[in-house]
Amino acid sequence: MYCTKCGKQLDNDAVICPDCGEKTENYREDFFKDETPVGQEEKKANSEGENGMAIAGFVCAFFMPILGWIFGGIGLAKALKPNGKRKGLAIAAIIIATVVFIVNFFVNTFITAFFTELFAEIFGSMAV
Ligand SMILES: [Zn+2]
Repeated sequence: MYCTKCGKQLDNDAVICPDCGEKTENYREDFFKDETPVGQEEKKANSEGENGMAIAGFVCAFFMPILGWIFGGIGLAKALKPNGKRKGLAIAAIIIATVVFIVNFFVNTFITAFFTELFAEIFGSMAV
């Protein structure tokens, strides 16, 4: 094959062009793993610490407070570990789950009370 940049003929298993340093189609990101600059290694380590549980908890908190607590709690435990991430999001998940739970509780109580009264009225008028 030939280098796409300078056109020099290369071995078919060449990874970079020895002349100009251009990457060939054989080049893969993990090929020179040992030569990865320090900055990129750090970036990789950080992305591995992504806290999916905190995110899941935050999303679930709005619809299913119980799941919001569970995921948020696990996410918070993960966030509190060294290099943990999304601590704020995990705490937000737990707070939102609590608020949604309380709101749901009062809404349910209100609806139950409303229908209890409604049925009492309907059945009361039927009895007359
Ligand atoms: Zn080249």
